[in-house]
Amino acid sequence: MSLFTRTASSLGEMLAAGEVSSVEVTQAHLDRIAAVDADVHAFLHVNAGALDAAAAVDKRRSAGEVLGPLAGVPIAIKDVLCTLGMPSTAGSRILEGWIPPYDATVVARLRSAGLVPLGKTNMDEFAMGSSTEHSAYGASHNPWDLERIPGGSGGGSAAAVAAFEAPIALGSDTGGSIRQPAAVTGSVGVKPTYGGVSRYGAIALASSLDQVGPVSRNVLDSALVHDIIGGHDPRDSTSLTDQWPSFAAAAREGAAAESLKGVRIGVVKELDSPGFQAGVHQRFHEALDLLAANGAEIVEVSAPHFEYAVAAYYLILPAEASSNLAKFDSVRFGMRVNPPGGGTVEDVMAATREAGFGDEVKRRIILGTYALSAGYYDAYYGSAQKVRTLIQRDFASAFEQADVLVSPAAPTTAFKLGEKINDPLAMYLNDVTTIPANLAGIPGMGLPAGLAPEDGLPVGIQIMAPAREDARLYKLGATLERLLEDKWGHTLLSQAPSLAPGEMFAAESGAV
Ligand code: GLN
Repeated sequence: MSLFTRTASSLGEMLAAGEVSSVEVTQAHLDRIAAVDADVHAFLHVNAGALDAAAAVDKRRSAGEVLGPLAGVPIAIKDVLCTLGMPSTAGSRILEGWIPPYDATVVARLRSAGLVPLGKTNMDEFAMGSSTEHSAYGASHNPWDLERIPGGSGGGSAAAVAAFEAPIALGSDTGGSIRQPAAVTGSVGVKPTYGGVSRYGAIALASSLDQVGPVSRNVLDSALVHDIIGGHDPRDSTSLTDQWPSFAAAAREGAAAESLKGVRIGVVKELDSPGFQAGVHQRFHEALDLLAANGAEIVEVSAPHFEYAVAAYYLILPAEASSNLAKFDSVRFGMRVNPPGGGTVEDVMAATREAGFGDEVKRRIILGTYALSAGYYDAYYGSAQKVRTLIQRDFASAFEQADVLVSPAAPTTAFKLGEKINDPLAMYLNDVTTIPANLAGIPGMGLPAGLAPEDGLPVGIQIMAPAREDARLYKLGATLERLLEDKWGHTLLSQAPSLAPGEMFAAESGAV
């Protein structure tokens, strides 16, 4: 079995047992990137220092240092996260070539746990989008079908994981940018509880919605990454001070669970729309049947205000984004464009922002400043905030009836590149299943539920839990993953096209 088809946890065990070095594991992934990334375009930047970082971990290990479970394992990092010494563009021209003078807290935590950054992954500009087509550097491609989107905004991280270029990756999720890419690429992705993972050094889109989280090929690997990046950070004013349980322990417990007796699983009526793609609907209901057959109690819950979630989100997000993006002013950092014949500082800012931002970013800045303007504030931004409260109440009453909630993770499988790019509304509606969790600050996981019969592409199921109960996602997610793999006899990603001529995958089981 090639090293690059192994899961992060199994690589971690091999490294700990001295069966392989981090330099070898890292090289195997760099070779894989060299072989397939011209087709996939998951990476915007490959870390030239990766092998040195790997050698440094090998040295720490041979010096007898006690290292964590993922020490020496490579990881891909979404380009929205600041990385010392590596460009961080957030998919935008305006930050082309910018190298941050510091690491995001999550990146610093990965490095001190001995993980090896492989590089920075592609994304929609400033994380606005569901397809990576809004990246200023060209779209990424879905490894299952290169003509299709890998999801967005974090399509690069999901594509890297699904194409076996990296065993694990970091993403950020403001309205679904971890869970939807995971769903359409057959991988696992988690948006933690708001405040559970530091946002320090994550280039802000909408600060009240953004969360950083893991992407992986199985539930345990996401849990292991979450254990490393999570926990209080004094540099983030919204960071929770909770003591978190071990998510890896929760995943192991879930994978070993004999039965789901006593677990109440709520199906959100409003997110189980007959308008969703038929194969998505079918695989979602088969997963529910499997959970019920193993003892779970399936209850229907209603969240009547979810119908307004997309509308509220597309007012709150642009409002916050228009403020966050004001810092790209050509003066402090990033690109500067001097208008022909010179001009005032305002002229320089205008010329820079005109040249540096793409259409979607401009669209949202205009929408956001409009929604915040004195005459319209109450009608738009104020109303959207009221809807947000109603959605939080919907969740609160749903969680009185169920321990976790489930829905399809996305309404369709991966759509074709170019299909929705000229129709912003159609692109926005793709987020209908994921947005409510961000508005309420609760955690959500996307994980594979099978392939849609009509197109053979991955379908994702979403699990949501009350705020601070992220462990429930890992526990139930790992149980469902095991039940599905027992049923199929293999992991979903082992069926993915290998992308390399003559090579077959024998990818490892997700079950632990
Ligand atoms: N697709 C959503 C949007 O365009 C989600 C973005 C995100 O989670 N960063 O806003």
